[in-house]
Amino acid sequence: MTVLCLIETDAGGGGVDASMRALAVARGLAGSADEELAAAWFGPAEAVSPGELAAAGVGRAWAIGSAELSGYAPLAWARALAGLAADPVTGSAADPAAGPLGGSGWISAIVAAATDHGNEVLAHLGAITGLPMAANCVSAARIAPGKCRLVRQRWAGSLIEDAVLAAPVALLTVAADAVPADAVLADAVLAEVRPAAAGEPAGGGGDAEVSVEVYQPELADGDLTVLAAESADRRSGVSLASARVVVGGGRGVGGPDGFAVLEELAGLLGGVVGVSRVVTSEGWRPHRQQVGQTGTKITPELYLACGISGAIQHMAGCQGAKTIVAINTDSGAPIVTKADYAVIGDLHEVLPALVEAIKARRP
Ligand SMILES: Cc1cc2nc3c(=O)[nH]c(=O)nc-3n(C[C@H](O)[C@H](O)[C@H](O)COP(=O)(O)OP(=O)(O)OC[C@H]3O[C@@H](n4cnc5c(N)ncnc54)[C@H](O)[C@@H]3O)c2cc1C
Repeated sequence: MTVLCLIETDAGGGGVDASMRALAVARGLAGSADEELAAAWFGPAEAVSPGELAAAGVGRAWAIGSAELSGYAPLAWARALAGLAADPVTGSAADPAAGPLGGSGWISAIVAAATDHGNEVLAHLGAITGLPMAANCVSAARIAPGKCRLVRQRWAGSLIEDAVLAAPVALLTVAADAVPADAVLADAVLAEVRPAAAGEPAGGGGDAEVSVEVYQPELADGDLTVLAAESADRRSGVSLASARVVVGGGRGVGGPDGFAVLEELAGLLGGVVGVSRVVTSEGWRPHRQQVGQTGTKITPELYLACGISGAIQHMAGCQGAKTIVAINTDSGAPIVTKADYAVIGDLHEVLPALVEAIKARRP
């Protein structure tokens, strides 16, 4: 049996961090029952390197594509995954009457990151196949054929639920902060520095020759009714959910024009701007930049929270950050007690000084 993990790819190449974390949880699930780990993504075969896959423990991989699939199409992606899981060669369900995925019997679970895309695609897959789906898992283990024990986040992570999912094929998404950022990095670094075992290619973390097959899905009428040909996040190359550095701005920024210096700082640090809900409610920035319970969950190495009070709903989205630095005029603001470091001061003075200091250190 095989656990199949959907990898979302970055514009710059490779799997996004959230997917690599999902892959780590998928590997744990496969390992709990001595099963194989496989991966699939939408796009060209070279979008994810075989070394990256091998380091993550992937044995088989598929690049899914067709001329019609030129962008994100949730229902079409789900249909393609259902076809691949039914039969990786022809995509046709062997015997639709035999149950979900045609009773093909080679897939025990399909796992994706709990991103907007991952959750949406697996929800469609659940609807197509009639299988239950569990979102925001932080761990999963097989306890019996057709049964997985899960730990998953509810209520934006403020409640942790132990659950048993009974399903012939488990559909799971993995919470963004299920695996610490440094654990994902550690794996990748380990793959680079680990001495090769006898007969094993160096730096590959195992069989670096994972062969990637191309899978052409058969789509049904209406599968491409929703097709996002372009995404603003992707255009900039780094998405909020997978950024290593996020410069956050709240009401304290003062208005839309105040974000210029945050953009400049984010650019210098190779990161992106995130905002609080007040900022999106005021129409200063688009909702896709909102961090929090009703926005995006972020897991950067560094979160610089500027003029943000640190309301519980905001913290629900940024508590997975490895290091939080707050810049706030109020030493009693909740975020100051939750941050690793705090600068008590006016962001309109601190940020320009920080930008200048970084520029001065650059050649
Ligand atoms: C159901 C629900 C869901 C929600 N979901 C979210 C969510 O997803 N994300 C989210 O962010 N919020 C969410 N909220 C809103 C949340 O409760 C807060 O209202 C919001 O996060 C506050 O935004 P803020 O920190 O920017 O503003 P404020 O709370 O007004 O804080 C502004 C901060 O800026 C500081 N400041 C002011 N001027 C300066 C300056 N010049 N320099 C430095 N610091 C300065 C102040 O001291 C203050 O700490 C949700 C609320 C509800 C009820």
